This record gives sequence, structure tokens and C-alpha cells, in this order.
Amino acid sequence: MKVKLIAHTYDPEKIVGISAYTSISEKGPIAKMEEYDNEKGKKIIKNLVSYGHHSVIEHATFTFGVEGISRTCTHQLVRHRIASYTQQSQRYVKFTDLDYVTPPTIQRHEEAKKIFHETMKKTAEAYQKLIDIGIPPEDARFVFSNAAKSNIVITMNARELLHIFRLRCCLRAQWEIRELANRMLLEVKKIAPTIFENAGPNCVQLGYCPEGKFSCGKIQKITETYKNLKGDSDEIKKLIALGED
Ligand SMILES: Cc1cc2nc3c(=O)[nH]c(=O)nc-3n(C[C@H](O)[C@H](O)[C@H](O)COP(=O)(O)OP(=O)(O)OC[C@H]3O[C@@H](n4cnc5c(N)ncnc54)[C@H](O)[C@@H]3O)c2cc1C
Repeated sequence: MKVKLIAHTYDPEKIVGISAYTSISEKGPIAKMEEYDNEKGKKIIKNLVSYGHHSVIEHATFTFGVEGISRTCTHQLVRHRIASYTQQSQRYVKFTDLDYVTPPTIQRHEEAKKIFHETMKKTAEAYQKLIDIGIPPEDARFVFSNAAKSNIVITMNARELLHIFRLRCCLRAQWEIRELANRMLLEVKKIAPTIFENAGPNCVQLGYCPEGKFSCGKIQKITETYKNLKGDSDEIKKLIALGED
């Protein structure tokens, strides 16, 4: 999977800071733009994020380009409603090569891998035969599996991102959407480190695990890992490894 932040609010932390000042200052946002103090701004952002005054961070918006995730993953992703999505169409695109995602458990298991790849090959052949005899792509695609690769553009504001990270960076989330959420988190950490300073799964943001008997029991290790993230894309290996111990 490839995940890249392709656009974002210009100077997102300044915009969030200015918005926060607007609610507590006699001066208006236009005047504050001229005399904005970055250090004071960081303090106010830290406070409002910790108090849960999250409407202010809605002013910062982030757009991600995502390539090569499965339809299983995009189906889970688009359940998050406070976002904008544009996904590769299986009606307008005729797939000459049926690319698909192989789950790690199948990749590691010789027999499973054989069954899986043979099924994908048959699926691709069936699709091509249907296209060749004149079935339109919008109907031929009915043979596709959930593993079919897709591309998607996602736009979300910082409030929704914090919410998604709580749910989808958690080890209870399925591995592929967890990897996607973690990669998105690393991307935004670089651009808005104060807003996303304490971002991560529920246990990191809340300080406790709300999963009850389903808790993974690794709260300390998970919290340390997320609190020390810098936003380097290489850190994804550490985050994936949390689910493998
Ligand atoms: C581990 C895990 C397992 C899951 N398993 C299943 C499953 O088995 N079956 C299944 O169907 N789904 C499943 N889901 C998906 C889940 O039920 C939600 O659809 C998904 O997480 C989106 O959640 P959300 O509503 O919090 O998010 P968003 O759509 O991102 O919304 C963010 C927040 O905005 C508010 N909000 C948004 N829309 C409304 C609204 N219409 N009315 C009121 N408030 C609103 C809510 O406070 C919400 O939490 C699973 C999710 C996770 C993380």
C-alpha cells in the first residue's frame, strides 16, 4: 500500500491557533493573523485538544492519496462518514491485470497461498471472458473478490482523523485498515505535530482501554510507541510489529 499526504490546509496549526484565539480574544482572526505567536499558539492547541474542544481543529483539513489497498479495506474506511472520498471506479476502468492484496496469514502459508492465487487467477480469467463476450465492466466486475486492489483519495479534517486513529490504530482493528490509519498518522504528524501529538489508538488518547475483556493488554508498550513517534515513514514497521508480538 502507498499512502501520501497530497494536500492540506496551508499552515494548519496557525489556522487552528487563530480559530482558538478568535473564541477567547477581543481581537478578530484577521488582526490575529498579523501578530500570531507560534509558541503561544502551540500551547493553546495542546490545551484545547486535551480538553476535548475539538470543533476548533476541524479548520485543518488533510487530503491523502492512497494506492493499492483492497476493497475489503476501502469498504471499512468509507464507513467513516465525516470525510470525502473518491475511489477508482470498477465501471469506467477495464482491468487488464487483476491486481489484488494477499493477507500476510495467507502469504506465510504455502497451501493457503496456492488456493488463494489459483482463485484469483480464475477470477481474472472469468472477468476477461465476460468482457470478451460483450458484458460491460460494471457487470463483469461482479466476479471480483474483496481482495481486488483499489485507489482512493481521502479528505478529512483533524477532528475526524483523531477519531479514526482512536478506532483504527487499535489492535482490535483489522490489519490492513490499521496499517492505513497508521500510515495516515505518520503523514500528518510531520505537518501538524502539535495537533497530533497524542494521536493514536483509544488507549493512547484516553489513557485507558475501553475494550474491556477484548483489551490486548499492551497499553504501556503501545502508549510509549505512539508518544515517541516523529512521523518518519520508516516508523510504520514499529507500528505494524505491535500487532505481531
Ligand atoms: C474494530 C471494529 C470492528 C467493527 N466491526 C463492525 C461490524 O462487525 N459490522 C459493522 O457494520 N461495522 C463494524 N465496524 C464499523 C463501525 O460500526 C462504524 O461504522 C465505523 O467505525 C465508523 O464509526 P463512527 O460512526 O464512529 O465514525 P464516523 O462516521 O467517522 O463518525 C464520527 C463520529 O461522528 C458522529 N456521527 C457521525 N454520523 C452520525 C450520525 N448519523 N448520527 C449521529 N452521530 C454521528 C459520531 O459521534 C461518530 O462517532 C467496526 C469498526 C471497528 C473499529
